[in-house]
Amino acid sequence: MTIRIHPINTGRVALRPSQERRGPLGPLGVLLDRDWTDWRPILAWLIDHPEGPILVDTGETASVMRPGYLPRWHPFFRLAVRFDITPEQEIGPQLRALGCTKGDLRCVVLTHLHTDHAGGLAHVAGCPTLVSPAELAVASGAAGRLRGYLPHRWPADFSPQPIGFTPMALGPFQEGLVLTRAGDVVVVPTPGHTPGHVSVVVPCDGFNILIAGDTSYAEQGLSEGLADGGDAHPGTGARHTGAHTRLGRDRADDLSAQP
Ligand SMILES: [Zn+2]
Repeated sequence: MTIRIHPINTGRVALRPSQERRGPLGPLGVLLDRDWTDWRPILAWLIDHPEGPILVDTGETASVMRPGYLPRWHPFFRLAVRFDITPEQEIGPQLRALGCTKGDLRCVVLTHLHTDHAGGLAHVAGCPTLVSPAELAVASGAAGRLRGYLPHRWPADFSPQPIGFTPMALGPFQEGLVLTRAGDVVVVPTPGHTPGHVSVVVPCDGFNILIAGDTSYAEQGLSEGLADGGDAHPGTGARHTGAHTRLGRDRADDLSAQP
């Protein structure tokens, strides 16, 4: 049985162009920008693997459309983002439409904890859920809310398993976490958009597919190595965007190099 990857569109989001293409004012410029991007899809990914399906990210919840759900005191939510989500687009009903229940899932990997990646957590409550310790640290508590995370919206019993990396050679990456007995699906560190951001490498149809969360917002950002406009440390993100481009050119047999 081969591995298949299903993109799941959980709604759409519009951002300020200066978030996708960093301007001279950096994050402040995102708040001052008066233009909007086109609507962008909010994607989660189901890896249909012989050892059991793996979900990468949980997409957004339609609750963001409800007044009071998003913190209007926060300048990013007040000024710099728009959502368009329906209940049918949430991850739960879409998994069921694919013939997958949460009990079937081998695990859930969160690339990071922003609401448009963690908004569907309630639909997969009880599933083993992997998050990098660095991400959980910056996203939790009052400091996390100031940074634009919504930890108070996580399910009450949310207790993710920490992602621990070990040394390995996988394309441009020097460490990772293997998720399967076959050793083929690997979580790799890709900090930049957030300090604990991770991506998932999947061999599929002779290529390494990198499920890369918010390391870039669109194909142009990837190909041009654009720095994230909302990133306080843009050099890190741009460097990893270059790494993704290189991995994208590598063939799947690079995976044989992992220990
Ligand atoms: Zn994000």
